[in-house]
Amino acid sequence: AAEEGFDPEDVADDLAAAGHGPLPVLAVVGRPNVGKSTLVNRIIGRREAVVEDRPGVTRDRVTYEAHWNGRRFKIVDTGGWEQDVLGIDASVAAQAEFAIEAADAVVFVVDATVGATDTDEAVVKLLRRAGKPVVLAANKVDGPSGEADAAALWNLGLGEPFPVSSLHGRGTGDLLDAILEALPEAPEMTYEQVTGGPRRIALIGRPNVGKSSMLNKIAGEDRVVVNEMAGTTRDPVDELIELGGRTWKFIDTAGIRRRVHLTEGADYYASLRTAAALEKAEVAVILIDVAETLAEQDMRIITMAVEAGRAVVIAYNKWDLLDEERRYYLEREIERDLVQVQWAPRVNVSARTGRHMEKLVPAIETALAGWETRVPTGRLNAFLGELVAAHPHPIRGGKQPRILFGTQAGTKPPRFVLFASGFLEAGYRRFIERRLREEFGFEGTPIQVSVRVRE
Ligand code: GDP
Ligand code: GDP
Repeated sequence: AAEEGFDPEDVADDLAAAGHGPLPVLAVVGRPNVGKSTLVNRIIGRREAVVEDRPGVTRDRVTYEAHWNGRRFKIVDTGGWEQDVLGIDASVAAQAEFAIEAADAVVFVVDATVGATDTDEAVVKLLRRAGKPVVLAANKVDGPSGEADAAALWNLGLGEPFPVSSLHGRGTGDLLDAILEALPEAPEMTYEQVTGGPRRIALIGRPNVGKSSMLNKIAGEDRVVVNEMAGTTRDPVDELIELGGRTWKFIDTAGIRRRVHLTEGADYYASLRTAAALEKAEVAVILIDVAETLAEQDMRIITMAVEAGRAVVIAYNKWDLLDEERRYYLEREIERDLVQVQWAPRVNVSARTGRHMEKLVPAIETALAGWETRVPTGRLNAFLGELVAAHPHPIRGGKQPRILFGTQAGTKPPRFVLFASGFLEAGYRRFIERRLREEFGFEGTPIQVSVRVRE
């Protein structure tokens, strides 16, 4: 069956020749239209990297590099082979054969809304014989009502079916966790390898809070000149700086170093600049001048960072200027005005004297870790179930909306989707959000919770 489209050994050789030998290979197998390509796109996300893209090779663009939780693997979308002259059954058998020969693990995708077909059963037989680990994806489970369809796929005898919606992302995190378990260990990746660059920090704050002083203090003599580093894009406004044993990219440092003249419209341009820096950054270090009363502009900058969905560290600068009296009022101002970022790690520093500057990197790392936290669906729903039982939504107009199910739809920052039987009041949503933080941490990161009402 394999003659027409491919030869598994060829593919394996090509992969090795392309320098991807050591990475484990995952094959995605299933009938046409079950959603294989959609799933592959979902898994590789926007950081799609084509590793096999040579002209003249008919099966180009089928192998991608993917990563999850810091582990890398190759993913082979066998969907492209379906135009095979051999017909559906033969082409699916060919995929399975490839998976058996060249892959380390297989994701078998079944359309849960259709259920297992004879073709599916036949593939299962092939896969079983091969003895390679198989993860069963019950696709097109777009909402809780599809869970039963997924459960019906236990009958295939491949173990637990993972209900997913490749289209919307529902459940794909749990599926990926299972895939990683099925794949052999690959070397852990550093963040730099995953993203192809150092982590990106924006120093923001209103004029004169001490941004350029802090940048100079941080950079010291150790500044790395951007164009000296191989493979980095030249961006004259960003600087690579070594700090705490690793390299960080500080965004828009030119804008920080340049003294901005306080002419008309300066506020407006400062705010544009802040927005642009936030856009490029992963984590915002927001400077506050402790010698001055918290200003509207401080609050606006904090709101911008939160709304941009960035990890946040608050640096209270000019600590050397703080006396007992000012300190008293400062704490009150923080309590009153900065409740919206209570979750942000805080450092009390002096860019002038260098006081506690060594605490900046750990705070940034904490915030980034919170920003990337993912709660497995099972754990999330166990938590939600208990919470809702203990604190049900108030009854309104004779009805009591209930949270049926929740899932974390994304990270950076963590985003949750709750499926509910009716509209949830803002107060109740805030309560849920607060409890999510109490339970799972999320230090240094905004979190987003949206509610979908299910009929
Ligand atoms: P493949 O041919 O097996 O690779 O399947 P595709 O990825 O091309 O998907 C086939 C069709 O199913 C497309 O119209 C997709 O948009 C749709 N599809 C894929 N995944 C889902 C899903 O999770 N839910 C729904 N409702 N549709 C999906
Ligand atoms: P920027 O406009 O945010 O870049 O602020 P600058 O770094 O230019 O600092 C504004 C003023 O505050 C300068 O006179 C700095 O010397 C002073 N400054 C900055 N950081 C500190 C600090 O930690 N302590 C004290 N006492 N002064 C500071």
